[in-house]
Amino acid sequence: MRVGRVVCPGSFDPPTNGHLDIIRRAARLHDEVIVVIGANRAKKGLFTVEERVDMLREVTSDLPNVSVETFRGLLVEFCREHGVSAIVKGLRAVSDFEYEMEMAQMNYRLGQVETLFMTANPLYSFLRSSRVREVATYGGDITSLVPGPIEERLRAKLSAGDLG
Ligand code: ADP
Repeated sequence: MRVGRVVCPGSFDPPTNGHLDIIRRAARLHDEVIVVIGANRAKKGLFTVEERVDMLREVTSDLPNVSVETFRGLLVEFCREHGVSAIVKGLRAVSDFEYEMEMAQMNYRLGQVETLFMTANPLYSFLRSSRVREVATYGGDITSLVPGPIEERLRAKLSAGDLG
């Protein structure tokens, strides 16, 4: 099966340079990339799902074959409804591997959707959204960790007293 349309799923709370690296690389390899924000557990997040959609659209606006959507329920259902043949994930370290392998096998079992792994850019392999939120909360420098517009939004959110 040709892999024309893929998804890059995640919570993106907020999007980081690590996410963007995977999205950009996927967009070079595939005809179309849909970035999908899982909304099942979004209530616990710092940013609302709508804010995450806005942020991701802003930082991918230079990539014509990338779009941003949300989904509830099972990712394989989203893939079936949108004609998506593969899920693209970034692997940061061995610690990601076990979880990702189980998820990939479950998604194949449920919907025969393939999962393709890309190794993280070593510049960002230590990066996860929860850590960015933590560093920003305590005033650390996040300039090289997230795109400029995301840094501004994080600062605005945290100065509004919302510590997520
Ligand atoms: P996190 O909170 O860990 O950043 P997300 O659920 O938003 O998690 O991430 C979605 C997916 O994006 C992850 O499963 C992983 O495939 C990829 N990803 C996240 N951070 C990175 C990174 N720094 N480098 C490469 N891939 C990443």
